[in-house]
Amino acid sequence: MRQPRAVNPWASIVVHLFVNSVETRFRCPCCGSRTLEAPEAMGLCPVCWWEDDGQDDEDAGEVRLTVNGTLSLTQARAHYAQCGAAHPRFLPYVRKPQVTEQ
Ligand SMILES: [Zn+2]
Repeated sequence: MRQPRAVNPWASIVVHLFVNSVETRFRCPCCGSRTLEAPEAMGLCPVCWWEDDGQDDEDAGEVRLTVNGTLSLTQARAHYAQCGAAHPRFLPYVRKPQVTEQ
């Protein structure tokens, strides 16, 4: 006679936490991928290499001369559309967005 399979309660908890962590990720203002754990927290996006310092649509054309150097968000978005990175010099470091980040 077959024994009923033991259910590991941790399996469903881990899956639940994983799904929630993906859902609460924030979109990168440059490439739009869900790669950031929190908004405006100086998170570096691994997909485009933009560092999220809080710049967004309303001041996208501004050159802040901080973490992103002389790049404005508008320029970084244009670069990402052309080459897949916030700047061509970041191409060796970037990667494609994962399914859960799109
Ligand atoms: Zn990005």
